[in-house]
Amino acid sequence: NHKIDIKTDGKKIYEIHLEDSFENLMDSMEFLDLPGRKVCIVTESNVAPIYLQEIYKRISPKAAKVVTFSFTAGEANKQLATIEKIYEQLIRNHFDRKDLLVALGGGVVGDMTGFAAATYLRGIDFIQIPTTLLAQVDSSIGGKTGVDFLQYKNMVGAFHQPKLVYINTAALKSLPEREYFSGMGEVIKHGLIKDSGYYQWIKDHKKEIKDRDEQILREMIYRSCLIKGGVVERDPKEQGERALLNFGHTLGHAIEKLKEFQWLHGECVGVGCQLAAMISAGRGEISQDDVKDIKDTFKEFDLWKPVGEIDPEEVVQTTKSDKKMEGNHVKFILLHQIGEAFIDRSVTEEEMRHALEQ
Ligand code: NAD
Ligand code: ZN
Repeated sequence: NHKIDIKTDGKKIYEIHLEDSFENLMDSMEFLDLPGRKVCIVTESNVAPIYLQEIYKRISPKAAKVVTFSFTAGEANKQLATIEKIYEQLIRNHFDRKDLLVALGGGVVGDMTGFAAATYLRGIDFIQIPTTLLAQVDSSIGGKTGVDFLQYKNMVGAFHQPKLVYINTAALKSLPEREYFSGMGEVIKHGLIKDSGYYQWIKDHKKEIKDRDEQILREMIYRSCLIKGGVVERDPKEQGERALLNFGHTLGHAIEKLKEFQWLHGECVGVGCQLAAMISAGRGEISQDDVKDIKDTFKEFDLWKPVGEIDPEEVVQTTKSDKKMEGNHVKFILLHQIGEAFIDRSVTEEEMRHALEQ
């Protein structure tokens, strides 16, 4: 079983534990000194029936007190109203500064639990137990927390690092295929922006990945966590390199919003990566063969959507309301080559339209 240290300024701030069961959860949580702390396990309606009881049973003998909070699954509930209900549960149970939140679920649970932990009494500890592929390779790492507000995604939030990320790869067995493939959008992205060898490995193991082969899954999640962990460690507050993780997200977020979240996040990111690759090729950075290769790889995991259904003009206009917008220019991530990305602020509306119309 693997461990990855996440450091800031050379000092370890937390560990990612990669496991294939929940058996070692309490060993991993030992350092948290639970006998003196209350714990609130935050989860949602799809995850609770499958995993809540097991987690509750493991933690409750070790902690001062354990309570749970479960909300209705779905991005639509990633909002302040749910956060208020978490606060109420904490207040009702007299949670104070030394107590702990546990996020059990996908990115929606993780982002909200993290935000509640960041703001309750000006900040209490929390840990992540991610149960989707997207959460295991992406959202549970790096300390970005928050909720959607009005129609804006992640508009309100805080940086707040977890004390531990405990990944049980076996929890992915119950994940619906569409959600699993959605997570592959971020996985392929990791290869494209940082590691051509990893990208090639994904292509070479696509069958095992689709079959969720235990060994391959572990290697894949480990490699993606190393990439994501490395980036956020070098640039925790997104002043530079961390922006590369937004590859595929400028157009992806716009499409996600226009489709009113009927297309999953990773699906939109997959489409956005392919469009960004086309723009990169239009500038002579990568070849048309690279673009075809990239499209084929995403398609293996059903990460292509009929973008033709959406008006290109609307997409272009929507990118302008993205909070990654700086001055008059949208912040874009392009590829110099497969495995190497760069930040660019000069992508024109015409280039975006051209890619969307292809
Ligand atoms: P999600 O949390 O909605 O989970 C996807 C679906 O899978 C839900 O229906 C959920 O109930 C279900 N589910 C979760 N675990 C399951 C399991 N083990 N078995 C069966 N069903 C399960 O979505 P997600 O894709 O995990 O995360 C998307 C969210 O993450 C978005 O809100 C996005 O903004 C956020 N995000 C945050 C960051 C970050 O850095 N904080 C990064 C990327 C994405
Ligand atoms: Zn993403």
